[in-house]
This record gives sequence, C-alpha cells and structure tokens, in this order.
Amino acid sequence: MSEKEFDLSYRFSGPVSFSSMTAQAFLHFGFHHEKDERALWHFRVRETGGGYEAALFCGEKRFRGPAFCPGRKGAAHFLMDALSEAAGKPLGRWGYLLGMRPVKALYPFLSAGEAGEAQAARFLEEERVEPETAALLLACFRAQQRLREREAGGEDRRAAFYVHIPFCPSHCLYCSFPSAVVRRGSALDGFTAALCEDIRRAGALIRRKGFLVESLYFGGGTPTVLTEAQMDRVLSAVRTYVPTERAVEWTVEAGRPDTVNPAMLEVLRAHGVDRISVNPQTMQDRILARISRTHGAADILQAFREVREAGFRTVNMDFICGLPEQTRADMAENLRVICQLRPENVTIHTLAVKRGSPFFRREKEFSLPPEAEVEAMLQDAHRRLLAEGYRPYYLYRQKYMTDDFANVGYALEGHESVYNIQMIGEHQHVIGAGAGAASKAVLPGGFRLRKLYMPRAAAVYEADLQKLCDERDQLWDGPAGSAGTASVS
Ligand code: SF4
Repeated sequence: MSEKEFDLSYRFSGPVSFSSMTAQAFLHFGFHHEKDERALWHFRVRETGGGYEAALFCGEKRFRGPAFCPGRKGAAHFLMDALSEAAGKPLGRWGYLLGMRPVKALYPFLSAGEAGEAQAARFLEEERVEPETAALLLACFRAQQRLREREAGGEDRRAAFYVHIPFCPSHCLYCSFPSAVVRRGSALDGFTAALCEDIRRAGALIRRKGFLVESLYFGGGTPTVLTEAQMDRVLSAVRTYVPTERAVEWTVEAGRPDTVNPAMLEVLRAHGVDRISVNPQTMQDRILARISRTHGAADILQAFREVREAGFRTVNMDFICGLPEQTRADMAENLRVICQLRPENVTIHTLAVKRGSPFFRREKEFSLPPEAEVEAMLQDAHRRLLAEGYRPYYLYRQKYMTDDFANVGYALEGHESVYNIQMIGEHQHVIGAGAGAASKAVLPGGFRLRKLYMPRAAAVYEADLQKLCDERDQLWDGPAGSAGTASVS
C-alpha cells in the first residue's frame, strides 16, 4: 500500500447490519476498505444497553467519539460528520442521504396528506440535503402524491408487469446491462416461445393473487430487436394471459433508433402500447461512434418522425451528460433538438462507469469531460427543460456515478410515467418475465422487498423456465425467505 493509499484506508468492527452504511459513507469521502489491521482509520461500533457506542480512530488516537447513538441512523450521522472533518470535505448535495433511492426516503410522508410535503421538507433539512437538491426531491415527492390521490385504494394489490428482452444490435460502451448482441431474425424464435410461456405463467400468478396491473413495461436490452412477427406473438401473449383492463400505461423501449420501423410501430400500437422510448443519448455522430452505437443523429430524427406518425401518447428520449469527448456545446445542441421535437418525457442521465461495461476496462482510451463541465451540462439541461414546461418527476442515483449526480426524469404535465414513479419508490409489486427480469414482492409494511432475478443467459432461462416460474410464484406464495434465489432488501 502506498503512503497515499494508507492515509485513506479504513476498517470497520461492529454489527454486520452496519457494514453497508459504513462502506457507503467511507466511499463517499474517498476512503477505501482494508481487511486487516493495517488500515489507518478504524470505525468501531459496540452495542450498549438500548443503543450503540460509535467511535472513529486514526491510528492509535481517537479521532471522534465515543458517542452514544440510539440507532443506525445516529451512527451514520456520527460517521459522516467525522469523515467530513477528516477528509476536509462538505457532506455534499445529498447531505446524510447516501442510499441509492433518496426519493424512497420520503415515502413515509406520503400518507400524511396535505401536511406530507411540509414534513418531507423538514426531514430533508434535518438530513442536511442542499436546497437545490431538496427542491428536486420535493418535485418528485409531489408527483408521487398526485399519483396516490388519483388511485386511492387497493395499494397493496397494485402491480407492474415487466418484460425483459436482453438483446441489442451492438453493445454500447458504457452499458453493463445483460444484453447479448444479436441481429434481428429467427435466432430469437426459441427465446420468443419461452417468453410467451413465461408470460402465461406470470398471468396465472397475477390472476391467482388478484393483482391489479397498473402499468406494463418492456425493457432490456432493446425489445424492438425482435422481428415484427416475434413481437406480435409476445404482445398477443400479454393480452391473452395478463389482466390489463386496469392498466393506465404500456411502455416499450425502442432505445435504438436502428430497430424502429413503421411496421414494428404498427404492431406495438395495434396491441395498445401507448408509451415508447427512443434514446439518442446524444446527437453528435462523432460521439455516437465513440460509444459504439450503430446509428447516427439522422436515424434518431427519422425514428422520431415515424413514432409521431404512429400516434403514441407519450414519447420518451434519454440523454447522457458526461460522455467521452462531449462538451457543454454538444449538450446545448441536444437541448435544441429536444425543444424542437418536444417529446413528452426527457430523461437526463449522467455517465456512470459501471464495472460490467466495456468502458470500465478501456477507460484510459477515452477522454471524459471534467466534472465541472458535466455539472454545467446538467444545470443547463435543468434550466432549459423547466423553461420549456417540463417538470422533474422521478430521480435515481446509480453506483459508480460521477460525483454526486442523479438521473432525472422530466415530463410535460399529464405525461409522468406511472411505472417510473412506482419503480423508484419501490412500493409496488413487480411481476417480471424474460431473461434477466427482476420480480419484486413488497413485504407487509411496504418497506422491504423480496426479489428474484431470472438468469441473464437466454439458454439457461429457456432450459430452466418452469422451475424459475415456480420460484417466482414462491415470492408471493411462500413464507418470507423461502424462494431459493430471492434476496430481501
Ligand atoms: S442499447 Fe441500451 S441496453 Fe443495449 S447496449 Fe446500449 S445502452 Fe445497453
């Protein structure tokens, strides 16, 4: 270990349930974990009568504490304050809210009716969230509130039906999703047949449990990599087996414009798909080539025209700030295109260098814009979209994201995606079908989930399908923890 690495090394001793919070806090301030006693910093938590004693040591010396903390939250605040002092850095825009889903932290205030927003605002102040970030979170909270008012009753039976199609025409540089690269054609006939059977089993589960399917979502991968005939089979299976009469939204991701054509769009519309995502990421051919997209900006404009002609109620477009060689001027050009096309939804992402992505292995080959420029791009986007009548309505953070940024979804009024709001809040059952799909059962109380992931490899998924469907049933049929591959979070 070099001297610099030693200065930022830490270890932890205490209850296992504190490990994740501890790791997040240290990571946030730039420290790294060392297993053995050689680490310079040591965070120690001991159980005492009715609470915990927390202390941070630097070598042999006590840096802060010991302090009595009644619970894990108190210990987290203690640690973050101590690390902020040790590292000489402020807490940051999210204050003490280090978890991946800050919007979820506001969920308890939803049930407080009109008083909820003021309570949520107070909570964000106590968590020392910076005012601009708090305003963004409160905008998302209001979108959740509006949704809740609209759909009073039956919360515990509401569900989303999610279909995962894990194939793409090429592997984008930054992507770690489970996508196999395929060309359109009969190679996916076997997968299509398995998926239809999966949908049949999922539909039977939904009916048996009396779930009210509120939204349907086809993601991946790029679902429109299927042929029109394959897509028609899959959508027919959904309409045959899944009760969709209460659904208010059906989304299909057609993320890659090179998979969009009028015949495919006609199939989607004929089955009732009303929301579609066409994702440029950026509008400069030189950057699109750098990130291994197999299309140019002209293809995006063509796909958008075709989507409009097909008559979808809501069109979403995803953009990423911080791509290799991207400048603030490039993002300004992207915003000009958004304002000209006026998709009803726009999602602004920040590049995250994910471990499973080709980018992670080849990062040195690319020049990334500096953090301050990414920040400026995000602020430009936020200001311009607000001025154009878009409102932020959901946000989420990812691991490995540059700095403290978040991905933010904006919508024109009345076009907020129900699926996105519910997913980020994690308070709705998700019945997932398809290779790599996640199913999520909300446990009583509404805060904990039991999850099951279908295998990512299509061959394994096809071979083990019936067993996997049985395990999915067990998420809801069995006692807590009974499903073999399920995890609780
Ligand atoms: S199209 Fe989307 S899912 Fe497919 S590789 Fe690119 S980013 Fe990943």
